[in-house]
Amino acid sequence: MINTALNGFLTACKGLALTISHLFAASESKKVKGIKESDYFEQQNGIATVQYPHQKLPVPEVGRYQLEVVIDDCIVCDLCAKICPVDCIEIESIKATEAIGKTSDGSVKRLYAPKFDIDMAKCMYCGLCTTVCPTECITMTNQYDKSVTHISDLNYKFATMTDTEAEQKRKELEAQLAERQAAKLAAMKKME
Ligand code: SF4
Ligand code: SF4
Repeated sequence: MINTALNGFLTACKGLALTISHLFAASESKKVKGIKESDYFEQQNGIATVQYPHQKLPVPEVGRYQLEVVIDDCIVCDLCAKICPVDCIEIESIKATEAIGKTSDGSVKRLYAPKFDIDMAKCMYCGLCTTVCPTECITMTNQYDKSVTHISDLNYKFATMTDTEAEQKRKELEAQLAERQAAKLAAMKKME
């Protein structure tokens, strides 16, 4: 009987000591540690939560978060859209009548992109699109807190062409194709 009471008292003291130690530890904010610090995964004292958005936990450099496209460096090869397992990248292309410049890595651009949409609501953050891109213009950024008020706002549009510009480029291509066809027919007539 006395032993049981003593055990109960000691257990209560241990529990109280643990609670008091956490109470004092929680009087300070947790130190935000960089992912590369050797003790990143070790238990830290302090308040468990951080004062977001004034204080943010560091994220790994190779983390998979919001996708970004530098459209000026895109050669509109469609590889990213083809490899996407959930079809959340939609690209439209228009062949240019001549080379339209170079990307920052020196790749020649021959296609316009009137549409380049990525629906981040469908994206499963596999990162495959970033690994196949020949010009490395589609990347995963470290931005994880891009919230929106409507799900349709998660469909990000990266194309910069206006509808009028796209229509103009389509007409130029049609005219070039018609010109080439006419020249081909004329050459065939000459041979007859
Ligand atoms: S990260 Fe994966 S799911 Fe998301 S757009 Fe790229 S390929 Fe598609
Ligand atoms: S793989 Fe890269 S270059 Fe090709 S369409 Fe996608 S973003 Fe553009």
